Amino acid sequence: MFVTAVAIGASAATVALLFLVWSYRRRVQALERDLRVIRAELGHAAITDPLTGLYNRRLLTEVGNHQIEHHRRFRLALSLVYIDIDRFKEINDTRGHAVGDRVLLHVAQFINRHTREADYLFRIGGDEFVVLMSCSPDEALRRARELQATFPTTLGDAGMPPNIGLSVGVADVPTNVKDLDAAIKRADARMYEDKRKRSGGQGPLTLALLPFCLAALAAISLSAQSRPLVAPAATAIYARLLPQIERIKIFDHHAHPGFADDPEVDAAPVPPGASPFRLRPDNPDWAAAARALAGVAPKRGDRQSWNRLLDRLGIETSIANRITMSDDLDPARFKWVFYADSFLFPFDNSGLAARNPDQAAFMPMQTKLVQRFRSQAGLTAWPASLGEYLAFVSRTLDDHKRRGAVAMKFEVAYFRSFVFDDPTREQASAIYDRYRAGGVPSAAEYKTFQDFVFRFLVTEGGRLHLPVHIHSSAGAGDYFSVSDVNVLNLETVLRDPRYLSTTFVLIHGGYPFYREAILLASMKNVYLDSSGTDSFFLFPDAFKDVLRTWLTQYPDKITFGSDAFPLDEYIGAERIYWFAVHNARTALAAAVAEMIAAREISESKALSFARAYLHDTAASLYR
Ligand SMILES: [Zn+2]
Repeated sequence: MFVTAVAIGASAATVALLFLVWSYRRRVQALERDLRVIRAELGHAAITDPLTGLYNRRLLTEVGNHQIEHHRRFRLALSLVYIDIDRFKEINDTRGHAVGDRVLLHVAQFINRHTREADYLFRIGGDEFVVLMSCSPDEALRRARELQATFPTTLGDAGMPPNIGLSVGVADVPTNVKDLDAAIKRADARMYEDKRKRSGGQGPLTLALLPFCLAALAAISLSAQSRPLVAPAATAIYARLLPQIERIKIFDHHAHPGFADDPEVDAAPVPPGASPFRLRPDNPDWAAAARALAGVAPKRGDRQSWNRLLDRLGIETSIANRITMSDDLDPARFKWVFYADSFLFPFDNSGLAARNPDQAAFMPMQTKLVQRFRSQAGLTAWPASLGEYLAFVSRTLDDHKRRGAVAMKFEVAYFRSFVFDDPTREQASAIYDRYRAGGVPSAAEYKTFQDFVFRFLVTEGGRLHLPVHIHSSAGAGDYFSVSDVNVLNLETVLRDPRYLSTTFVLIHGGYPFYREAILLASMKNVYLDSSGTDSFFLFPDAFKDVLRTWLTQYPDKITFGSDAFPLDEYIGAERIYWFAVHNARTALAAAVAEMIAAREISESKALSFARAYLHDTAASLYR
C-alpha cells in the first residue's frame, strides 16, 4: 500500500534526487574504503591523537592529498578551517596539564559534534585543530563563525574555565595544488588575525582566570592523589614502612621510553579503543604526577634528561622495549628488549589483516618488520627450506644479542590466541614450502606454522640466554580477545620440560587473571611482572590485593614494571612511569603492612619481599 503510493507519487525530480543521493553515497563509500587503506598502511597509533581520539597531523597530509584529488575529480569545493584555543597556554601553566587536557578534550568533542560526516577533523598540534570541509570558503566561514559563537555557551555545564574561546581562520583549497601546505599557512595566518582582533582591549587572561584557579586549587589540594586504604590494625606499620620502601631503588622490568612520534617505540601500537579510567584526563593522578615531575621532562638528544627522570622516580634501571635501541637512552640505565613476533608472520598476511580493523593496522607493521630483518640479513626472498628460514631467525636473534639486547618480547596476544599446539617439523615445513613464495595460508595452516616457530623461538631464548617476555594481560583496541589469551592457555608451553633452560616473564602479570598467573610462577623458570596492572588497570587500593595474593604464594618470582609509554606529544612516558612507581610503592607498603598485622610475616621479611619485588628479582635475570 505504502510502496504503491510512493511509486505513483515519484516524479522525475525525485528519481533524479534519488540518483544523486545514491551516487553521493557511492562516492563516500569509495572515500571510506581509501581511508581504511591509508589507515591500515600507516598503522593506527601513527594516525590518531590518543588524548582526543582525533586524527593527527600525519593523517592530515595523507587525507589532504586524497581529498584534493577527490574534489578535483568530482569538481567539488574544498575548504580548510584552522581553529586555535584562546588562552590555552595560560590555562596549562596556571592550572596544570590535567585541566589543559580536559579543555582539549572538551574542544575536540565540541567541534566533532558540530561537524558533518563528510568533514575531517584533526588535532595537529597542542591546541590547534583543522577541519577539512567539503564546501565553499564562504560556507566554511559561516560555519566557523557559528562554532565560535556557540562554543562559550558550552563551558559552564562542562565545568570549564570561563574565559576560553576559539579563534578561527578559513582558506579555500584550490584543487590544482598537490598538497594542503599553502592552504594551511593561509588559514593559520587568518586565524592569528582573528585572534588579534578579538583580544583587542581585553586584559591578560591570568587575571580573569584567577578566581577560578584559586577555587579549583583549593578543591584539588594535595589529597587529589590516589592511595591504598590500609586496614586499621596496619596503619602505623604502613606509615613506618612506606619511607623505607620509597628508598629502595627500582628495576623497571617493562617500559617503552621514547617519544610519541618515534616509530621504533612499539611494533604494535595500540588501536584506539576505550581507555581505562586511570588513563583518562579526569583521573586526579595526572595532576599529582605533574607536581611530582615538575622540572624533569625527557628531551630528544639528551641522555641526561632521561637519567634525571629515572633519578627523580628512584629507578635505577629500566627496560626499554623497542624495535631498535635509541641513542637518547644511556645503556648504563636502560636495557634493550626487542620484539620477536614478526618471525611468526613471513607469509602473505592479507588473510589475517582482513579479520578486523585492529589486525588491519597490525599486520602491515609485522610484515614490514620481518622483511626489514630479512633485508638486514642480505636476503631478497625467503630461503628455500624451513631449515634455512630458522637459521635466518637464529642469526637475527644472535645479531640482536650482539647489539646489546637482554631479552625478546612477544606481543603475540594482540595477534592470535595463546593456544600453542605442538606440530611436527614436517607439518611446519610443508606449510613453509607451500607459502614462502606467495599465496595466502588458511587460518589453520598459519597457526600450525606459528605454533612451531614460536616453540623454536622459545628454545632459542634458552640457548642464547635471552629471557622470553610475553604480554599476558587484556590489551587495548576494540578486537582484543581476552578469553583467547587467558594466561592459563600458556601452560602447555610454560610447563613443557623441554624449555626448562628458557626464562619466561609474564608481562602485565596475566591481568585480569592474576590469581591464575601466580600459580604458573611455581615453575622455577617462570616470573611475573606487574606492569600495566599497576600503572593503568588499577589504582593502588586494588593493586594492593594483587600484590598480597602474589606475595603470599611466590614472593621471589614477581617483579615491578611500569609499562611507561608516551601517550602523545604532550603527555610523555614520564607520567606513566610515575603512575606505576607511586602505585607500586604505596600498594606494596600497604600489602606487607597488612601481612605483618595479620601475623603472616615479620617486618624484616616484609622488607626483603619489597627489595625482591622492586629490584633484586628482575636484576638477577640480566646479570
Ligand atoms: Zn608494554
